[in-house]
Amino acid sequence: MNLTIRARLTLLYCAVLAATFIAFFWICDFGFRRSIEATVNDASQSNLEIVQRVTHESLSRGLPKVQKELSELANLWANGAIFEVAGPDSQWIFRSPRFMRAQAPLPNPPVSGIAFLTTNLDAQQFRIAQQNVSLNGQPFRIDVAVPTEPFDQALDNFRLIEKRFLPLLVVLASLLGYWLSGRALAPVNRIIESAEKIGVQDLSHRLTVPEAKDELRRLTETVNAMLSRIEVSVDRIQQFTADASHDLRTPLALIRTNAELALRRPRTESEYRETLERILGASEETTRLIDALLTLARADLGATQLRFDNVELTPLLHKAGQKAAVLALEKGVTFSESLSEEPLFLRADAAAIERLVLALLDNAVKYTPAGGQVQFRSFAESDFAVLEVEDSGIGISAEDLPRIFDRFFRADQARSREVPGSGLGLSIARWVAEAHNGTIEVASRPGQGSLFRVRLPLTTQELPIAEAKTGLLPQQVS
Ligand code: ADP
Repeated sequence: MNLTIRARLTLLYCAVLAATFIAFFWICDFGFRRSIEATVNDASQSNLEIVQRVTHESLSRGLPKVQKELSELANLWANGAIFEVAGPDSQWIFRSPRFMRAQAPLPNPPVSGIAFLTTNLDAQQFRIAQQNVSLNGQPFRIDVAVPTEPFDQALDNFRLIEKRFLPLLVVLASLLGYWLSGRALAPVNRIIESAEKIGVQDLSHRLTVPEAKDELRRLTETVNAMLSRIEVSVDRIQQFTADASHDLRTPLALIRTNAELALRRPRTESEYRETLERILGASEETTRLIDALLTLARADLGATQLRFDNVELTPLLHKAGQKAAVLALEKGVTFSESLSEEPLFLRADAAAIERLVLALLDNAVKYTPAGGQVQFRSFAESDFAVLEVEDSGIGISAEDLPRIFDRFFRADQARSREVPGSGLGLSIARWVAEAHNGTIEVASRPGQGSLFRVRLPLTTQELPIAEAKTGLLPQQVS
C-alpha cells in the first residue's frame, strides 16, 4: 500500500482508539446489564417478602381475609408489580389478572430458595421471583413479577448513546490523529524541503538542525555530516580534474608548439631531430602523468588489481637502488645503500612496492643539489620491514610537510627550481603503503634534508603464494 506515513499513523491511531472505545463500551454495557439485573432481582425479592408477610399476618384470620389483604396490596402497588399466591391445596388464593391471562403456566418454584426468571405475561416482559414458603406449618407458593420495561428502557437509552457517540468519537479521534501525526512529521517535511534545495552545485547548504534532541535531530546531523563528506569529495574530484587538465595541457602545448614551429619553414635534419626529441620527451611526460592518474583513479575505485605474493624485499630494493645510483651519479649526488642482510619477507605486490621505493629515491635525488648525499636503508624492526630514504637536499618547510602526500601538491621550492614532476608520486607511494597495511612518514628540515620512512608488515616465508586480489585497497584520501 502506497500510503504516506501520516496516513498510516492516522489509520493506526484511529484503529487503536476505535478498538479501545468498543472495548470500553462493551464493558460498560456488560456492567450496566449486571447491575440492572441485580436491581430487578432485589426489587422482586423484596416484593416477595412483602407478599409473604401480608399472607402470614392475615393467615390466622382465615383465607378470605388473606385474599382481601392481598388484593388491597395489589391495588397499592401502582408501579406495575403483580403477584400470585397458591394455598396448601395448590389452589390459587390470589392472582393478579395478568397472571391469569398469561399464555403459558409458570414452572413450579424449587423446593427451597428463590428462583428468578424473565418471561412474558400477557405480552409484557416481567422479572419473576418464585418461592415455596411454609406459613404456620402450611405450604404456600408465591410468584412476584416486576415489569422489566423501565430497566430495558434505560439500557436502550445507554445503547443509543453508544451508537451515536462511538462513530463521532472515532471521527474526532481520526482528526486528532491526523493533526498529531502532521505535527510529528512537520520536521521531516522541513528536512525534505531543505534537502530538495541541495544540488551538486551548492553542496555547502546544510539542513536546519531541529532544537529537540530526538531521532530527527540525529538524522539531520547524520545527513549534514554526510553532506560535508560528499562536499569534500566533490571538491577533491573537481580540484583533481582541474589539476589533471592543467598538468596535461603543458606537455601537450609543448608538443604542439614544437611541431608548429618546425613546420613553419624547411629545417635541417639535425633541427628536425632536436624537435622530435623534445616532442618525444613531452609525450613521455604525458604518458607518465596519465599512468599516474590512472593508477590513482583505479585506486579510488578499488579496482586496481594488486597481486599479493610472498616477496623477498632485499633483491627488489637493490634493483631500485641501482636505478637511483645511476640518477644520483648523473646529478653528482653521492648515493649509499645499506640493506638488511637477513631476508625480509612480505606479502606484497612487488611492482607496486618497487614503484613506491623508486618514487622516494627519485625525489631524494631530484631535490638534492649536486654534492649532496642520499642514503638508502632497510632493516627489520619488530614485525615490520623498515625502508628509509634520507637525503641532504632542500628539505620541506613545516607548512608544506602535511600536504606533500596530497595529489598534485608541489612545494613552491620544487616549482621554482623547475624540478620536473607532477605532484602525484607521493600520493601513489602512500596509497601503496596503506594497501599493504603499512605506513609512510616523513621528517624534514628546510635546507638540511628529508627522511622518508616506510613500514610494511613482515610475514614468514612459508605462506602460500596468494591469489590476485581486488578491492583490497582503502579509499585514497588526498
Ligand atoms: P613530484 O612529482 O613533484 O616530485 P611528489 O608527490 O613525489 O611529486 O612530491 C610532492 C612534493 O613533495 C614535491 O613537489 C616536493 O615539493 C616535495 N618533496 C618530495 N620529496 C622531497 C624530498 N626528498 N625533498 C624535498 N622535497 C620533497
